[in-house]
Amino acid sequence: MHLNIFVSQRCFVYCKGCYSHSREEKCGEMLDTNNILNFLKYAYKKGIKKLTICGGDPLTRPDIMDLLKQIKKIGYYISLDTLGSSILKDIKINTKLTIPKTDAKILSRTVDMIGIPIDGSTNDIFTMFRPTKEDIVKQQIDICNELHKYGANICINTVLHKGNIEDIFEIAKIIHSLEYVKKWQVFEYEPFGKYGIMNKHLFEISDNKFLEIKNKIEKDYNDERIQFKNSKLRNKLYILIDNSGDSYISSTCNLKRNNRKIIGNIKEEKDWPKIIKYLKMK
Ligand code: SF4
Repeated sequence: MHLNIFVSQRCFVYCKGCYSHSREEKCGEMLDTNNILNFLKYAYKKGIKKLTICGGDPLTRPDIMDLLKQIKKIGYYISLDTLGSSILKDIKINTKLTIPKTDAKILSRTVDMIGIPIDGSTNDIFTMFRPTKEDIVKQQIDICNELHKYGANICINTVLHKGNIEDIFEIAKIIHSLEYVKKWQVFEYEPFGKYGIMNKHLFEISDNKFLEIKNKIEKDYNDERIQFKNSKLRNKLYILIDNSGDSYISSTCNLKRNNRKIIGNIKEEKDWPKIIKYLKMK
């Protein structure tokens, strides 16, 4: 199973289908850097070599660059999922909090794969899922171009849902035009996390529809960079560690936080072997 760690809880996007439990946590709550590193050193010794750093938005964590460098030093292959806005400019979260511009050069050299979302070919379609007043399609392409300048490996992530299903062929044209993109992952919308479940009527699509789109795109493009991930497969693949340190399997997410099946907490050393046991499951 793949390890995903939430390292921040200051997301400024408020996606309607947000999958992240961090949206329910107290603003600013995050795991201590030493808790993360101690667990990761142990996990690495036990054979876990890859992880994904997420949030809401990981780049809003004050010591994110230092944390990434330390994780890299342990030896991990790091993927990082971010909206990427701070790669272009400072982000004002509220009157008291501004996230400074991220150093794209250092980020590109520290992280092995940077995941950037593109969920629509127009701002109207994109913002159905991720509401923002920015010129968001242009912004996401600018972020990719900026990262590419520094040699970053870029993965585009698209959540396929009811609102963008007709648009997916236009999105494919955009991705296809970004020749340097290493991977395009298309995820079937999956209602997990409080907001994901609350708004599932807006986004949910059938497995058959997802398969139909997959077959068509694969036939049109015959491009091995494209990966389709259906919700059933996806659900069994991830162990998530939230900002409180609780680890759980994505498929056990439910409307109430307490309904998740918590395997253990990474702040508790005695829980580490249990978490590793799950991570090693196929
Ligand atoms: S899905 Fe990600 S980007 Fe969107 S609100 Fe949730 S944490 Fe933020």
